[in-house]
Amino acid sequence: MQIPKHFTLHGHLWTVEISRTLKDEESAFGEMLYYQKKIIIYDPQNHTYAHSFIEQVFFHELVHAIQTALSWEADTDTTDDTQVDLFGELWHQYEATKTGNVYKNNGSRR
Ligand SMILES: [Zn+2]
Repeated sequence: MQIPKHFTLHGHLWTVEISRTLKDEESAFGEMLYYQKKIIIYDPQNHTYAHSFIEQVFFHELVHAIQTALSWEADTDTTDDTQVDLFGELWHQYEATKTGNVYKNNGSRR
């Protein structure tokens, strides 16, 4: 699965960047900068993360971006980082495993 360089939410162009160094030793693997419209994935060259792990990090940060766009920030009682992670993991799995085209060759939807 490809991680996009750009996407749009609410008409704002977002950029995804890869950092080859950690922000600091205790930082997370990704960061969502809402006002800069940027997701940073920390993927240091001396680490050998599986690509699927990096994809998971991207979806986690994407869920943060969307929940912030919806004013469902993680610091409210309604959601927390575990829920963000679970939502991102399920979305990632959906994107990585979807197959076929239910309408193909049945003639009803081109
Ligand atoms: Zn998070």
